[in-house]
Amino acid sequence: MKKISILGSTGSIGTQTLEIVRAQKDIEITALAAGSNIELLEKQIREFSPAIACVWDEEKARMLAASVRDLSVKVVSGMDGLIEAATEPEAELVVTAVVGMIGIRPTIAAMEAGKDIALANKETLVTAGHIIMPLAGEKKVKILPVDSEHSAIFQCLNGERENKIHKILLTASGGPFRGKTRKELEHVTVEDALRHPNWSMGRKITIDSSTMVNKGLEVMEAKWLFGVEIDQIQVVIQPKSIIHSMVEFEDGAVMAQMGTPDMKLPIQYALYYPERRMLSGPRLDFWTMGQITFEKPDAENFPGLKLACQAGRRGGSLPTVFNAANEKAVAEFLAGRISYLSITDLIQGAMESHKVKENPSVEEILEAEAEAYEYIESR
Ligand code: NDP
Ligand code: MG
Repeated sequence: MKKISILGSTGSIGTQTLEIVRAQKDIEITALAAGSNIELLEKQIREFSPAIACVWDEEKARMLAASVRDLSVKVVSGMDGLIEAATEPEAELVVTAVVGMIGIRPTIAAMEAGKDIALANKETLVTAGHIIMPLAGEKKVKILPVDSEHSAIFQCLNGERENKIHKILLTASGGPFRGKTRKELEHVTVEDALRHPNWSMGRKITIDSSTMVNKGLEVMEAKWLFGVEIDQIQVVIQPKSIIHSMVEFEDGAVMAQMGTPDMKLPIQYALYYPERRMLSGPRLDFWTMGQITFEKPDAENFPGLKLACQAGRRGGSLPTVFNAANEKAVAEFLAGRISYLSITDLIQGAMESHKVKENPSVEEILEAEAEAYEYIESR
């Protein structure tokens, strides 16, 4: 039995990971962590019997502890609890599926404890890639990408480790507003932005997909995972999300990974790598698919990608400011307090007002995060 812990078990990636565990029947769950959804977490505890369950919210953790008194599970809370869940001694692999920069410290703690990481939490790599990647080498732990594009690139590199990557072709659907102008985007509502054409995901990443900020975060994520320069990564719009990304080698050969837009494939691949297992669900049908089309991203109306590339090229604490400003601005947009276009305007403002720190430590990353939050609150 393989033993795994899941941080963010009640979310979109977390629940799909548990669906795979349920179907495959040969994985044991050692720890589960959530933010505040104790109703679902309790059901998960009763079904999967983890040794540790973490709830970020202290009050909610107390309520959960009371309702699972009949079980042997240890209920913990806050950052200390999240780190305890991430380092549960029996686990071999930790799925990091919390949303946002909150993932940095537990991910580092899990790696220091020698655990492989199935990484969904891209914000961690964007802000602390310069800490995470060398640490993975030092501790000899694997970072297995869960993000569909990065899993696709990872799959395209099978058997090619000795060959240099010439270029990564990172595909994007373009989101629900592809083809719209800034003028048309002025009065976009939360509901409009949450209507992704192909993927069903958590709220934050769905908004990020609509602004192209998600693709920008993924460019930085790919830079760290595959050791390439930002300018070796070309974003290509491919509206149907059939090609999940491609790699071009030095001889011009291009490898692509294709599939239906279902996150269970990259999640399962990360859990069992390098083994492929049966996965039920719809398959691609090349007789009925028709065309797969490609476009250049619209930098004019969707500045999120361009800002991310700027942040990624400059490095240091700037990617943190890009990411933190986005996290804060998206939360404000979801709460109905700012307009849609303000999201990328605020990111740009926060980046312009920031004095970059080279090679930031975890503390300095968290300081840059707080600075970006303050900037947005002051606007
Ligand atoms: P969701 O919003 O659906 O889920 C987030 C999870 O994190 C929930 O379990 C939530 O708990 C938990 N959580 C939130 N805050 C805390 C906290 N402070 N402490 C502990 N747990 C917390 O997000 P997604 O599953 O969509 O995304 C998760 C990550 O994966 C993100 O980084 C995203 O970018 C990435 N990703 C997601 C994809 C997808 O298809 N969804 C695709 C590629 C990457 P609660 O339910 O209690 O709030
Ligand atoms: Mg993705």
